[in-house]
Amino acid sequence: MAIDFSFPPEIEEVRHRVRQFCDEIVRPAEAAIAEQEGDRATLVKQVVHMRRTAQERGLWLPHMPEEYGGMGLGHVAMAAVSAEAAKTRFGPFALNAQAPDEGNMHTLLHWATDEQKEKYLKPLCEGRARSCFAMTEPEVAGSDPTLIQTAAVDAGDHWRINGHKWFISGAQGAQFAILIARTEDDPDRPQAANSAFLVDIPSEGWEIVRDVHTMSGSHNHCEIRITGLQVPKENILGGRGQGHLLGQARLGPARLAHCMRWVGQAEIALNMMIDRALQRYAHGSYLAEKQGIQWLIADSTMELYQCKLMILHAAYKIDRKEDFKSEVSMAKHFVANSLNRIIDRAIQVHGALGYSTDTPLADMMKQARWARFADGADEVHQWRIAQRAIEAFSRTGSVAPAAGDLPL
Ligand SMILES: Cc1cc2nc3c(=O)[nH]c(=O)nc-3n(C[C@H](O)[C@H](O)[C@H](O)COP(=O)(O)OP(=O)(O)OC[C@H]3O[C@@H](n4cnc5c(N)ncnc54)[C@H](O)[C@@H]3O)c2cc1C
Repeated sequence: MAIDFSFPPEIEEVRHRVRQFCDEIVRPAEAAIAEQEGDRATLVKQVVHMRRTAQERGLWLPHMPEEYGGMGLGHVAMAAVSAEAAKTRFGPFALNAQAPDEGNMHTLLHWATDEQKEKYLKPLCEGRARSCFAMTEPEVAGSDPTLIQTAAVDAGDHWRINGHKWFISGAQGAQFAILIARTEDDPDRPQAANSAFLVDIPSEGWEIVRDVHTMSGSHNHCEIRITGLQVPKENILGGRGQGHLLGQARLGPARLAHCMRWVGQAEIALNMMIDRALQRYAHGSYLAEKQGIQWLIADSTMELYQCKLMILHAAYKIDRKEDFKSEVSMAKHFVANSLNRIIDRAIQVHGALGYSTDTPLADMMKQARWARFADGADEVHQWRIAQRAIEAFSRTGSVAPAAGDLPL
């Protein structure tokens, strides 16, 4: 039997160490930050403490190769690490495996020249720099990057860029951006119009207009005005017209990395739902004894199980260098929606307490909402999943190749 759903001992050991690190270091640090809410000195002190300890404990940069100071874990192992770390707010950041830096590191590893790696990837890996990824624009649908209007013009010894971006996560405090801009007026395919650039921050012509205020507050998702920005010729990343390809290559594993973190959050919500149902008494019995509540628990448990299987299978395909687009698309859609449903059910079971800010559920709900449209909206994933299913059926007479291509 080749199918084995257990992790090898070395991954189990890493998972255990991440859990221990979160319990011993991250949770107390988060409590200290919460106690001194708004105090920047406390925040910086605790972040430095968490990151130093992660390095000392050999838990730094789990997703990067050892030559960059990382642990060299594959995507399956990362599922174990990320799901564990994401049960805390600062866990992924403490390990230097947070969005958008994690995706940017993968992108630079695969697309950057040696000089670019030295200048941009190395400081990112060492925790000396942070980065952002700037693609989405307010004027055109982010779901369709062929519409991007930010334009880069060849100006001899440099590129001259004008445009407008928004929802650029981590832009404040980032030392550089990977910026997607249009360079080709008449590409062979619409997808080949864009190129990627490495932009040093601060730079003249790169202006942070505001941190866009969202339904869950301000979280450093910025609006950026780009005016006459000059980018050196050697700062193009990948080649001319490769921007879409690079974005897609980045987004596949980055989408799954989000799923790994979301599944940790979904499990917390389900644990809270059950814990509350075991304690709350109404109409002659505990909530946990009522069939209506058991259905909520059962549906959530089944969904959590499906989420985990989908994530692990997609990660397995990435590790084996097999085509993973369908599996990542299905996992992204399913996990994002399950996360929203499970948190919503947990709030239902908590009643007014769930709606209050006395538990983390209200905040989790507001955070989870963006999962359904960022990094590919539900409908776009459904469109692609259906296309692949129809194509598989038309080609082979069966949908099986598009449904995970499993031996069943
Ligand atoms: C918290 C957060 C962080 C983000 N971080 C970044 C970042 O760091 N960098 C960055 O570049 N961007 C970032 N984004 C932007 C994100 O990638 C976009 O929101 C996303 O790509 C969708 O683009 P849009 O918002 O323009 O929606 P639109 O493209 O306008 O889509 C709106 C809706 O239209 C529908 N729709 C679109 N296409 C189709 C279709 N083909 N069929 C059916 N329905 C469709 C869907 O319901 C979709 O939700 C972030 C967004 C959020 C909320």
